[in-house]
Amino acid sequence: MIPFLDGFDAKLSSAYKTALASGELIFTPSETYKIKETVYNIECQVSYAPALAKKPHGVLLTVEEDPRPKLDRPSTPVVKCVQNTNPFLPHTPALYVTDASEEHKILLNKFCIVPRHFLVVTKEFCQQTDPLTPEDMLAVWNTLKAVRNTRDALAFYNCGSRSGASQPHKHMQVLPLEEPAPIATLVRECSKRQPGKKENRPGDVFSVPFNCINHVILLPDPEKTDKSEEDILVEAYITLMDAMMMSIREYAEQETLSEQDRDLCSSLMSTSFAYSWILTREFMMIVPRKQESSHPVNGIALDINTLGFAGLVLAKTKEELELVQTRGVLEIVAETGFSFERTQRSPEEEAKHREQQEALEKQMGSALSFL
Ligand code: AMP
Repeated sequence: MIPFLDGFDAKLSSAYKTALASGELIFTPSETYKIKETVYNIECQVSYAPALAKKPHGVLLTVEEDPRPKLDRPSTPVVKCVQNTNPFLPHTPALYVTDASEEHKILLNKFCIVPRHFLVVTKEFCQQTDPLTPEDMLAVWNTLKAVRNTRDALAFYNCGSRSGASQPHKHMQVLPLEEPAPIATLVRECSKRQPGKKENRPGDVFSVPFNCINHVILLPDPEKTDKSEEDILVEAYITLMDAMMMSIREYAEQETLSEQDRDLCSSLMSTSFAYSWILTREFMMIVPRKQESSHPVNGIALDINTLGFAGLVLAKTKEELELVQTRGVLEIVAETGFSFERTQRSPEEEAKHREQQEALEKQMGSALSFL
């Protein structure tokens, strides 16, 4: 165990209890609904927490004016976004658990629905859109090894606002779960040997049957390889980033793609990265993100962060809960990635499109009848 994380599990529990009792941490109880999905019969989970409907989402950003005279400004303008308040710098002392490394601190999530949910935050300000560094991944990995039920703990990174991040200061998150997240079950199922398919082995890249681009890699057991844990993580991340880029490039080449989607693909390949990243002790997963919210149905849409791809979603209203129960978690979640079918149209657009098609067919029919 690295010295920073000596006795981490006990420190986490004790900090959680104290912060909760003092009112510095707000735990919101939720009702859990399990939803059976058709893929491999896994059960996804909806946490229904109506109290959160009142919590403001996101942060206000102000654009800082460059104070220099116009002539002295660089030709490429530097637009600096300054958050009105950064909750992580300085952090709330009661939420601090310990350091995770020289560069990272561990804070309890102030507004949690899973007890002991914590954040691994860079001590210095870094952007939430920055790629993960080897140090980031190692710090998170070490916390995964240090929590109770280490096999089931799940780490994630909402990279960019389209993946659900609400804070621009770099933070990875860890959920100390008591049972495997649905994605962990799904990855295990998909990795098994099946008729006509070999079992997946550490280092293999594959996709789980979500209806959107996603890539998973199984991690080798560090005890059974010569590689360092850092090398294992870095290799996995680079492999997944490469696979993601390749898939996005192929996706962008589809002839039927809308102008808007083509622009999104090129921004994802250049600067404006948005993806969901998941890490457990068994696998790493990456999902490029097209948008934060699912397609609206009768004006109701769900905000999906990376946990959606772990099979865990949050419903803040009865309508949202009903929507997930009717449509299923995975279908809704896939809409926020680069999905393979109906990529260009929301259900409402689809209905309109069908109407137009029917009208067109009728017109065509009457036009043809003249021939
Ligand atoms: P995200 O919304 O994914 O960017 O994650 C940021 C998390 O920070 C959210 O889950 C918030 O609940 C949490 N949060 C907001 N304010 C604070 C704070 N002052 N200290 C610790 N966590 C916070």
